[in-house]
This record gives sequence, structure tokens and C-alpha cells, in this order.
Amino acid sequence: MAERAGWKKTKEKKVGRVSMPQQEPLKRNKNFNEVALGYSEKDALLEASRCLHCKNPTCIKGCPVGIDIKSFIGLIQEKKFDEALDKIREKNSLPAICGRVCPQEDQCEKECILGIKGKPVAIGRLERFAADREMKKEAEKSAGQEGKKKCTKEKVAVVGSGPAGLTCGAELARMGYRVTIFEALHKPGGVLVYGIPEFRLPKETVEKEIEYVKSLGVKIEVNMVIGKVLSLDDLFESGFKAIFISTGAGLPSFMGIPGENLNGVYSANEYLTRSNLMKAYKFPECDTPIFKGLKAAVIGGGNVALDSSRTAKRLGAKHVYLVYRRSESEMPARNEEIEHAREEGIEFKLLANPVEIIGRDGWVDKIRCIKMKLGEPDSSGRRRPLPVKGSEFNMDVDAVVVAIGQRPNPLLASRVPGLKLTKRGNIKAEPVTGKTSLKGVFAGGDIVTGAATVILAMGAGKDAARAIDEYIKTGKW
Ligand code: FAD
Ligand code: SF4
Repeated sequence: MAERAGWKKTKEKKVGRVSMPQQEPLKRNKNFNEVALGYSEKDALLEASRCLHCKNPTCIKGCPVGIDIKSFIGLIQEKKFDEALDKIREKNSLPAICGRVCPQEDQCEKECILGIKGKPVAIGRLERFAADREMKKEAEKSAGQEGKKKCTKEKVAVVGSGPAGLTCGAELARMGYRVTIFEALHKPGGVLVYGIPEFRLPKETVEKEIEYVKSLGVKIEVNMVIGKVLSLDDLFESGFKAIFISTGAGLPSFMGIPGENLNGVYSANEYLTRSNLMKAYKFPECDTPIFKGLKAAVIGGGNVALDSSRTAKRLGAKHVYLVYRRSESEMPARNEEIEHAREEGIEFKLLANPVEIIGRDGWVDKIRCIKMKLGEPDSSGRRRPLPVKGSEFNMDVDAVVVAIGQRPNPLLASRVPGLKLTKRGNIKAEPVTGKTSLKGVFAGGDIVTGAATVILAMGAGKDAARAIDEYIKTGKW
């Protein structure tokens, strides 16, 4: 790609990576407002000026939806902010969300050439800046425009309104298909609304990005549990030519240890849904209560565990222990979240694994753990945790949140005759196209891969949209 005239090259040594303003740790761990406050225009221009506009930009290879990163950063540098957002949206319909929650350090920023000797360009922060700056204007323009854009091609149904479903729907609407997304909950967004907390991803931001998707012509029907209210056959009979299933991985896993049924034990899924979707942190202003422990143990080392522990702190726990069976370097959570959790006073109990939850009068009283050491790498490539004999110890806690993983949502997947599943209950789908064992039925996101990331779910939605277009045009399966 030719170099863009007017782009100024700035050497890494001249400008360091521009940091993101944040709420103070000891203030923010008592409120649910967003932690990271976003770049000002001045910050964004300075950060954009660090981009070298490489002839062969390596960053794009790291982006699962293939955003033309070099071009959008160049447009920011030229103060063409609307055009920068348009450039991002050519490939990504949810930039304000991705700019906040994508693990850029493992994706585009990992591939950025500046990362070899110093810090990569803050691609995610610039993406967020472009989206936030224009969002207000865009949302005002598009509010109430649902279905106003004329989509005239065949009808396509999408089941589930998480990032995979929203992206698939947006892509198909852009191609002119009449898309309806069916969502089981009373609000669309999937994990973006019920899982990831307000302090990391404000729900207003999610709502605005969903408004944008609707403005493309996508319809969303909530309170529609497909597999109960309507079957896949019902959808085909009512004229949908293809169906994309993106029902996610919403079924919590438990540890299978004594005491897990005591009062005060939550799955992270329930804990976060109460707090985020049902706004239990505002109780009694809202209808849903949540148990506010004073000493909480959160089990796990991923984003879900970090979100649960930071939520417990904000709900008023004096001590929040993050109990993880490996060491910090094996934790799957984003680096930024680990850093933020430490700053907020979360106490990391690493190389420890619960063996029992001990109760008193039916409520959690203690958690018994065993110390672990690391052995050889297992199939995940991370070093296997092994118990150290005789090293059990107790911790006084009154709440336990189990965040050790989620399994595929079985409600639809297990009820459709002929739909092939893996041993773990995920839908079997062809790589890239998302074609399942049933003609006209495609699937993608966490329901296929198991719990993964927002951007991978979006990539799957995008790929499936192309395959659905091909299928409807040719009838070939
Ligand atoms: P989901 O987002 O799970 O959406 C599935 C939707 O389908 C849901 O709305 C569900 O209600 C609906 N549904 C289910 N069954 C039916 C049915 N029968 N009929 C109709 N609708 C149905 N990823 C990141 O990249 N960065 C992060 O920081 C991050 N943090 C996370 C924090 C938490 C607490 C959690 C739980 C996950 C996090 N993830 C993160 C993972 C990421 O959110 C998921 O990988 C992603 O949301 C998967 O998208 P999806 O569209 O496949 O499914
Ligand atoms: Fe800019 Fe880094 Fe991409 Fe090169 S690799 S174009 S420096 S963001």
C-alpha cells in the first residue's frame, strides 16, 4: 500500500506510548463507574503520531477481523475522525466495545513493529477514541431508525445477540439481507451486558453500538428463547432462508468439591448477571439482591474471575482473595485487568486450589485450599498445577464466587435433532464457513469454540455472514 501523503513519521524514542487517564484505584474500587477514562484529542493525536505507517504493516495480521489499522491511525493523525471511524467500521461494527475489552496485547499490538524494541502503538485505545468521539453523534442520528434502512433480500435468523450474533447480523444487513436476531434475555448484547461489568464496559456504550447495528436494518426480538418459544423448524417455516446460531457459553462450571451448595456460594455467571444485568449493586433501588460478603474468595484466573473479584470489592468486601491454582504468568486474564485488580487491593492467592468449602449454620464460613506447584506443560501449553501433599490451609471467608470456566449453553444446541455436537457439547461447525451438520444452519462464537474472546466471536460472525450469502445465492451446501 502506498504511503499516505501528509502522514508524519515519528520515531518511538521521541514520543513514548501515551498513558490512559484513569480513576484513582482507591476511589474507583468503591464505585461502578468506568475505570479507564479514554484519550483526549491531544492524547490521541500524540499516540497516533507514533505509528510508523509501515509499508507492510504487521499489525493487521494480528486483527481477527482485519481492520486497516495503519489507515485509521493515519486518518486520526490528519484529524479526519469521522473517516477514521468509517475505516474501522468497514470491518468492525462494535469498535467502542473492542477498543475497551479486546486483548490487543495478544493480537494487533503484539504484531506491531514498534513492539520489537519498545511499546507498540496503543491501537485499541485509538480505536476506542475514534468510536467514543463519534458515538454520541452517530447514536443520535441512528436512534429510532431501526428497520428504516431498506434491506430487501432474503430473511436470515440469528439466534443470540452477543458479539458473534450482532456482527453476523450487521454484515448480512450491509449486504441487504433482512435480519432478525432472537435473544433469550430481556436485553441484547450477551456477555457484553450480563457478564462484563459496568466499570470496564459501560452499558450505555454497548446500547449505543447496538443502536448502530439496528440502524443498518437489523431487527432484534428479545425474550425469545429459541428451542422453547420457537424451534429452528418454525423459523425455516416462517420464511428464514438460513439460521446463524450464536448462543454462547453461558453454563457455569463448578469445582465438584464439598460445600459448593452452601449459602454464599455463587457461580460467577449468576454473581455477575445479578450485578450487571439486574443492577443488584443498587439494591434496594432495584429488585434483585446480592449477598455482599465481607471476606470473599473468587476462584479462577481469567477475565471472569478478575471481574468477579473487582465486583466483590466494589460491593463492599474488606478482603477479596483471588485463588488461582497456577502462577500469575499463566493467568489467562488481560494484563491490564490484572494490573487494575492489584491496584484496587485484590489479594492474589496464587498456586492454591480449593478442596472444600466449610459452612456454619448453612452459610460459608471458611475455604480450605491446598498449595500447588507447577509441573510440565499440559495440553493448553501452560504448566500443569500439582498439589503439594499435606499443605492444606484454611481461609476465613463468607462468600465464594466460582469462576473456573463456562460450558456451552445447552438449551438450543441439545434440542435440535441432527445437529452434531462435540463431546463437550459445543456445536460442530466447519472452520471459516460455520456450516453445521444441518443444511442452512450455521454457528459461530463461544457455542462453537468454547469460552473465548469478543473479537474471535465477531470474526466468526463475519465469516459466517459471507458463507450465508454464498449459500443463499448458490443454494450449494
Ligand atoms: P455471548 O456473548 O455469550 O452471547 C450469547 C447470547 O445468546 C446471549 O445473549 C444469550 O442470552 C443468548 N442465547 C443463549 N441461548 C439462547 C436461545 N436458546 N435463544 C435465544 N438466545 C439465546 N472477552 C474479551 O475479548 N475480553 C474481555 O475482557 C472479556 N471479558 C469477559 C468477562 C466475562 C465476565 C465473561 C463471561 C466473558 C468475557 N469475555 C471477554 C469473553 C467474551 O465475552 C465471549 O467470548 C463473547 O461474548 C462470546 O460471544 P458470543 O456472541 O459467542 O456469545
Ligand atoms: Fe503502525 Fe505498528 Fe501497524 Fe506499523 S505495525 S503500521 S507502527 S500500528
